[in-house]
Order: sequence, then structure tokens, then C-alpha cells
Amino acid sequence: TATVIDGRAVAKEINAVTATQTAALTSQGVIPGLAVIMVGDDPASAIYVRNKERRAGKLQFNSVVKRLPETATQVEVLDLVRHYNQDPAIHGILVQSPLPAHLNEEEVVMTIAPQKDVDGLHPKNLGQLFANVGHQYPVACTPKGIMTLLDRYDVPLAGKQVVMVGRSRLVGKPLVALMNNADATVTLAHRHTHHLAELTKTADVLVVAVGQANLITADMVKPGATVIDVGMNRLADGTLTGDVAAEVANVAGAITPVPGGVGPMTIATLMQQTVQLAAWQTGKQVQ
Ligand code: NAD
Repeated sequence: TATVIDGRAVAKEINAVTATQTAALTSQGVIPGLAVIMVGDDPASAIYVRNKERRAGKLQFNSVVKRLPETATQVEVLDLVRHYNQDPAIHGILVQSPLPAHLNEEEVVMTIAPQKDVDGLHPKNLGQLFANVGHQYPVACTPKGIMTLLDRYDVPLAGKQVVMVGRSRLVGKPLVALMNNADATVTLAHRHTHHLAELTKTADVLVVAVGQANLITADMVKPGATVIDVGMNRLADGTLTGDVAAEVANVAGAITPVPGGVGPMTIATLMQQTVQLAAWQTGKQVQ
């Protein structure tokens, strides 16, 4: 059966480095500052935000979580983003998605100062990532964390077939760019893709971020493939499960569990990147 890729263990290592870097920055008068904005009370988002808040607190960041009511207006959200854009004690700004339907998420993302866009969603940052040019720009934390995991487990990427299922701006699109920059041959699949099973079966590395339990079954996976399950689905009985069926572990060479795979890496990478942004914005060195 497949090697279990232990996201918790790797996240712990990353967090230890982040703690050291935070101490180094703090001793130079810079406390990494992370502002998280949440609008409404989506229960899943509330859990993610609490986990981020807890980790930032443990790392002794300047951690600010602003919870706005479901009824918040577009102007209120934009004003808050602009406030943190101007605040020198804040180095990273994250607006938890999804926003309530009456708000314009695109405009919110466009308002975040690109150098503080810790989720890498601003078109300037996403564009630099795709063009593979420039330096000192943030990259979406989930795909960046996936790249770290693959690196830690020595999964080769150059020349390999990578299939990404799901094309969100937060996961699928930046992952495609990162894989392309790592010299993989990448295919991006989504809800309109025909013959998904045939496609996924060609993958040496299969990454799935859809939000549908059991979407990927054993017959869709090449024997020995590395499978990265980004999905987080809450079943009726309350258990958390990914997009990949349990039986895939009998076919894959390596696989991430849910929970304990990609999730902890996302949070660790968010903290790692906040420290990085703090260093860039203040001209300090970390590491
Ligand atoms: P999303 O919900 O914005 O979009 C889903 C994507 O799946 C779309 O691109 C759609 O085209 C595609 N899709 C839908 N049905 C499909 C099908 N039958 N076949 C192929 N593709 C299909 O995506 P998201 O925000 O990236 O979230 C996806 C999942 O990943 C969710 O379960 C989310 O909770 C989870 N997630 C986890 C983390 C983490 O840190 N572990 C981070 C972000 C998202």
C-alpha cells in the first residue's frame, strides 16, 4: 500500500523554522503581522480562521482577526482592506473565502496591496508566477505547501505528467504554474473535462481540489502514482474526508491523508509566507 505523506510532520518542521525566523525578526524590531478578515459565519471558514489564528498566536505574530457580520457592505470590506494596506504593523492580509454572495470578491482581491497579498490571489502575483519572472512575490499557500511536501518526499517533477483536477484561483491555477515552473508536463482538468478517468490515469502526480468525496477511485489512478488530496468534505456523520476514495491507497505509490495532509501544510505555509513578507517589506534578512 501507498506511503502516507505526513503533512502534519512536515508542517511541524516548517513551523519550527518559522518560529526561529520570527524570533530573529522580532529581535530586529519587526513582529510579523497577519490580518485575517472573515465576513459572515460559514462554519467551515470559521474553523479555518480559528486554526490560522491559533497558529499565528503560537508563533507570537501580531495576529489580527476581524470578523464582520454577514450583512457587511462592500464598502466596509474594502475600507478594512485599505486600512490594513496602510498599517505598517501588518505584512500579510487574507480575506477568507467564500464571501457572502452580495459582495464582489474580485474587487476585494484587487484592493489588497500586492505585496501584502499573502494568499497570492492578486493578478499581479498570479501573473508573475505564471510568467515565472520577478522576485519577492507571494504565492498561494495551498499549492506552495504541496510543492514543499513533494520536495520533502523527493517526488520527481521534471518531465513528469502532472494532472491537476479543479481550477480554482486558490489551488488549481497556481499549482499549474508552479508545476510548469518545475518542468513538469501539466494538464488542468475541471468540471467540463471529458474522460476524466483516462486523463487522471496518465498522471505520475495527481492533485485533486474539487470538493467531492470519492471523486477519484482506484481505477482512475496509475499504479505507483503520487496522489495529493486537497479536498475537504464534511460527511453527514461529521467526519472530514477528501476527494480521493480510501481504496486509492491500494494503487498509489504515495498519498496524502485527509485530515493530516495538505491542510496543516496550508497553514504552515501561510505563516512561513507572512514572515517572508515581513522581511521583504522591512528590508530584513531571514535565514
Ligand atoms: P472551488 O470549490 O472553487 O472549485 C472546484 C473546482 O472543481 C472547479 O474548478 C470545478 O471546475 C472543479 N470540478 C467540479 N466538479 C468536477 C468534476 N466532477 N470533475 C472535475 N472537476 C470538477 O475549488 P477550491 O476552492 O480549490 O476547493 C476545492 C476543495 O479543496 C474543497 O473541498 C476545499 O474545501 C478544499 N480546499 C482545501 C484546502 C486545504 O488547505 N486543504 C485549501 C483550499 C481548498
